[in-house]
Amino acid sequence: MNWSELYWYRITPLHIILLWPFSLFFRLSLACKRLLYRLGVLHSIKISVPIIIVDSITVNDAGKTSLVIWLINLLKAFGLRPGIISRGYSENYGSPLAVTISSKSSVVGNKSLLMAYQSKGICPIWIGHDRVKVAQALLTAHPECNVLICDDGLQDLRLQRDLEIVVVDSSKQNFGNGLILPAGPLRDSLSRLNKADAVVMNEKSSKLSINAENQAKIFHMRPGNEYFVNLLNPNNHSEISAFKDKFIHVITDINYSHDFLDQLKYLKLNVRSHSVIDNYQFIKEDLQFPDIEIILMREEDAVKCLDQANEKFWVLHEETAIDIRLREIILKKLREKFMDPKLLDILVCPLCKGPLIYKKNEKELICKPDRLAFPIRDGIPVMLEEEARTLPAEEEI
Ligand code: ZN
Repeated sequence: MNWSELYWYRITPLHIILLWPFSLFFRLSLACKRLLYRLGVLHSIKISVPIIIVDSITVNDAGKTSLVIWLINLLKAFGLRPGIISRGYSENYGSPLAVTISSKSSVVGNKSLLMAYQSKGICPIWIGHDRVKVAQALLTAHPECNVLICDDGLQDLRLQRDLEIVVVDSSKQNFGNGLILPAGPLRDSLSRLNKADAVVMNEKSSKLSINAENQAKIFHMRPGNEYFVNLLNPNNHSEISAFKDKFIHVITDINYSHDFLDQLKYLKLNVRSHSVIDNYQFIKEDLQFPDIEIILMREEDAVKCLDQANEKFWVLHEETAIDIRLREIILKKLREKFMDPKLLDILVCPLCKGPLIYKKNEKELICKPDRLAFPIRDGIPVMLEEEARTLPAEEEI
């Protein structure tokens, strides 16, 4: 049990005397900031492409990373070119930085590295303290990106957003004592959920109902199939049953070892556990066992030792099933945004990164050097080479 669990899941005299006044101050400062933005004293900054905020209302991830991965796959499938921006981790005060699976967790943080691993390099990920600068840096490096997902930043009103999705872990434990930081785990009051465009309830464990004014904007996220993925070769999957007669060494962060081992026990696996401290940096000697057959890790821990992994390293992957209605909310908003010709004007060719010519009647975006016409299908520009029409030599542009 870490210190947060001791304080955030109960109410003691310490909460009332010491922490609650700080929580009140935190809440007031949030309200003041919102008011200053509403009155125009503080100004939010508009980024040239649509911004989708994905955040949780508590200090926990609550399933946010899984939702971001689902979202980038959705946007890619519709021909969009997403990018991910994030603050990374609190100690990261440096200038904007690109994250890849080769990045060091000590530099970019575990969460960013996990996102790079799970997204399989299908879109750029940039982190940094100033989200506006991070968004601008990503778009400079990747001008083909036409929508950005901000993996946090619900309260950072400086970054103008087009859509807010808040993830809520529906287990009672997630809300703790129901108090706002620092007395409890909430980063804002639960009434903030009413202002979001969509609330995604992650129903991994016991359910908790929330009072949202509009129940139609509540969507559900449920765990799907579980299977093992080889760390070195992520295309190599294995059924749980294939590991049942093998001897498995399990390495986990000590804060999560209890839950992970319970999960493996439920799957009837024969394991020997080795726990490591929080944010542990692995060295080669940590990962050598005499009777080694399988080393099994959580994805969050495995990304920290990618450079020391061999074919015996596996991770447990859990698919996520998300309410299909959420897709419509997101696409509807993006269709509205792409109705603006100014946004279509800034799109570039994903191949040569050059400007495109917007042909309104034909609903196409033309790249002159590549002689390709990218279709605008149902209001969404489909920026995929395989979907583009090759212009015949006689067709004038
Ligand atoms: Zn081109």
